[in-house]
Amino acid sequence: MSSIKNLDYEAAMENTEKNQIVGGTLYLVATPIGNLEDLSARALKILSGVDFVAAEDTRNSAKLLSCFDIHTPLISYFEHNKRMRGEEIASKLLKGQSCALITDAGTPAISDPGEDLVRLCGEKGIPVISVPGCCAAITALTLSGLPTGRFCFEGFLSTVKNERRERLETLRTEERTMILYEAPHKLRNTLDDLLETFGAERKLSLCRELTKRNEETMRTTVGGAVEYYKENNPRGEYVLILEGRDPKERQNEVWWAELSIPEHVQHYLDADPSMKRLDAVKLVAKERGVGRNEVYDAVMK
Ligand code: SAM
Repeated sequence: MSSIKNLDYEAAMENTEKNQIVGGTLYLVATPIGNLEDLSARALKILSGVDFVAAEDTRNSAKLLSCFDIHTPLISYFEHNKRMRGEEIASKLLKGQSCALITDAGTPAISDPGEDLVRLCGEKGIPVISVPGCCAAITALTLSGLPTGRFCFEGFLSTVKNERRERLETLRTEERTMILYEAPHKLRNTLDDLLETFGAERKLSLCRELTKRNEETMRTTVGGAVEYYKENNPRGEYVLILEGRDPKERQNEVWWAELSIPEHVQHYLDADPSMKRLDAVKLVAKERGVGRNEVYDAVMK
């Protein structure tokens, strides 16, 4: 109770109730991404109390559970058995059993088959509760030093070269900070592709071995990372945080970039003499992503 001393008593009681394990529920339990002490008290309680734990790699998870002296039965749920096993898990849940889903590391359903089980439970009306905790993507984003206000998660890029390049092509104009997962043996190829698509100057933070002894965040550029990994071997799991495109570049690319606002409006009036001035103002405001008043004021000056 001491850790929740800032909550009022009623709220604390509500939490106590919320933390009771309910039969027929799937619990998505986040596990550490390296540092065992990141497993939450709530996660421990759920993992100890559910009827069974579904895990991506039962050998890995058995080690985790034994570190905490948890002896809940384990079954496997991974990419290649997810269809059949998903149905089996759902049927146990429908009979009233409770299940905790864990993956090798981090938050289930982020770049792992948990997503499919949640969908299946949704279709069958089975309640799903998230027990939040570590997620490599968010941990890396917060360390990156890049804008965190708007970001997009891209997970792993395809291992098929063309598909990877096509995907990157769709991201060429992305203005939000981008988050990518990468394994060490594919890092150099991915950096080469990033160089080709985004250029050497684009900022890039490489976060590896997060929460572990050799945790490292390198805040550099795409070109800087390519050079560094020519000399150094990639080690450990990576999250790459890539700066989004500068919105000013968008402005420079448009056909009207050299026109002032009044010239932009006049262009439409000249092109279509029947067009009302107000309609031209609306069109220009939309194209420039500014308010109509701004365009109107510029035209009236
Ligand atoms: N569900 C997990 C999560 O919430 O982050 C991600 C699972 S995905 C199969 C595994 C990938 O996450 C790794 O290849 C790596 O890109 C990233 N990752 C996981 N743990 C990490 C760590 N300690 N440091 C850096 N990246 C990590």
